[in-house]
Amino acid sequence: MSHMYHFLDQSIRMLRAAGEVGKVDPDVMQLLAAPMRVTSFRIPLKMDDGSFRVFDAHRVRYNDALGPCRDGVRISPDLDLDEVKSLALIMSIKHAAGHIPAGGGKGGIEADPHQLSPREMEALCRGYMRNLRPKGPNYDVPGADIGTDLQSMSWMLDEYESVSGYHDPPAVNDKPPILGGTLGGYEATGRGVFEVFEEAAHEIGLEIPNARVAIQGFGQVGSVAAAQFQNAGCRVVAVSDIRGGIYVKEGVDVAALLHHKQQTGSVVEFPGSTPLGNAELLQLECEVLVPAAVQGVITEENAGRLRTRLLVEAANAPTTVEADKILVEKGIAVVPDVLANAGSVHLCQMERSQGLYDNYWEIDVINRLRWERLIGGVREARTTASRYGVASTRLGAWINALKRIEEAVKTRGWC
Ligand code: NAD
Repeated sequence: MSHMYHFLDQSIRMLRAAGEVGKVDPDVMQLLAAPMRVTSFRIPLKMDDGSFRVFDAHRVRYNDALGPCRDGVRISPDLDLDEVKSLALIMSIKHAAGHIPAGGGKGGIEADPHQLSPREMEALCRGYMRNLRPKGPNYDVPGADIGTDLQSMSWMLDEYESVSGYHDPPAVNDKPPILGGTLGGYEATGRGVFEVFEEAAHEIGLEIPNARVAIQGFGQVGSVAAAQFQNAGCRVVAVSDIRGGIYVKEGVDVAALLHHKQQTGSVVEFPGSTPLGNAELLQLECEVLVPAAVQGVITEENAGRLRTRLLVEAANAPTTVEADKILVEKGIAVVPDVLANAGSVHLCQMERSQGLYDNYWEIDVINRLRWERLIGGVREARTTASRYGVASTRLGAWINALKRIEEAVKTRGWC
């Protein structure tokens, strides 16, 4: 990652670029230049060893013109408020680009979940909800993100319901089906990444069987997507995680790699593979590159050296604004993050609909709707990009989102 990289600065620059090309009203752009509401608070916690600690926490509600704010709570040791603001802006865009009637929200706690016992983690999640003082599903809906999972969201929902005194499943997303969650949540993003790849491959005339795929990050999203690529006959030739990467010329056996990761905690030293650094993985000759780890990995320093035909962004904001221009010039097709990893936001919308109606759907219905909504978003972004005379699907998606937010802001009479 470039030492000059600043996540929020990058997101705001992307926002301005899209606002300019899309001729979005300057008053609306002024409103969107910063989040509407930022809450920072502290969570006091008694630790297992009898000591006392305080954890800093945030919730950012970027813009709620289209509907209640929504999205994950990230628990990470080096989290800062700017990162949460940036992610909240991206969520506003992702919801709007996908026709989801929600605003962008994001929360975070500065803590290392791996250093906490299960009891401390439960107390932290409950403390987050109690101190956030949420107002229910029509205001702001927290969900899972890095460092939070089904269990974290179960504790958060239970805390909310205990304090409010009412059962209210749509107050929290990414909860398990037994508490009113939806089926298909874990796989939604990884499967969606594969689905938008299929669509993009078709568009650029890329043969799917035998296509070489390199995936950075082998967590929830990267591992589910890897299995999908393999099932379709692609060769997943490279995979990495925070400890390093591996290369297997004929394509890795994804189930065996998952097993290896479960045994050892990492993909590195997978039998039959050659070691590969994370930087090398990004520059590997392949047909499809899938960054599925962290933001800011494709910069103006390495963008010129990418040797892929198609970039499918599973992570949020893996590509800087400068790098994106280089990719467009090089003719690399890009499915941008706000479209490619939108599987989970479409699932969250379905989770909300099911919870509000108290009527739960079969997985086939969920899979079909996810596909239709994801692919619809990609096609619409492409159409918009060509209408505005730009080659970037990313700009098309951001313009679609900004136009919808603009219309909602003006219709409400805010400016
Ligand atoms: P995860 O924590 O399950 O997995 C992350 C993976 O990335 C792990 O393999 C980790 O070792 C690796 N990693 C972390 N830092 C790295 C680094 N510096 N270099 C290389 N590898 C690194 O997370 P996830 O849920 O799979 O999410 C991955 C990305 O996708 C994140 O950017 C997340 O914001 C984004 N995303 C996730 C979802 C979702 O539904 N989980 C939805 C939308 C976007």
